[in-house]
Amino acid sequence: MTLHASYDPSNIFNKILRGEMPSVKVFEDDVALAFMDVFPQVEGHTLVIPKDVAARNFLDMPENKLGDYMLRVQKVARAVEATLKPDGLRVMQFNGAPAGQTVYHLHFHILPIFDGVKVGAHASGGMKSAADLEPIAAKIRASF
Ligand code: 5GP
Repeated sequence: MTLHASYDPSNIFNKILRGEMPSVKVFEDDVALAFMDVFPQVEGHTLVIPKDVAARNFLDMPENKLGDYMLRVQKVARAVEATLKPDGLRVMQFNGAPAGQTVYHLHFHILPIFDGVKVGAHASGGMKSAADLEPIAAKIRASF
């Protein structure tokens, strides 16, 4: 059901794209927007979403826009890595509620992973404020 449904433009990420909801941005161009996850599983948890598409998930993404979007995902992943210098980097993407998806506008998660640092549960835990997220976002932003 949640894997195959029509795109709902009232989803939270589309509101962020339209400027109707705030976000702590780290990268933006005509193809994609990257911002901090407000329920981060680790410090530096970043999301990358495509612009100008009605894609709920990876399967929906128009083929002619996928390549440019994936280049932005890699660009942001490189910036997160260069900024935070983690021991590992997790790049994740969920399709449909049974797979863990909770927001139905395509997005990739970028999680810096540090040896010995526990990764929190997905889409749960404490909500961070813009003030909490801004210092690390500023560092990531500066590394593009
Ligand atoms: P999904 O579960 O769909 O793969 O990922 C959605 C992600 O969006 C979750 O990690 C969740 O913490 C994050 N999220 C949910 N609502 C908001 C929001 O309003 N702003 C931001 N920046 N992230 C959100």
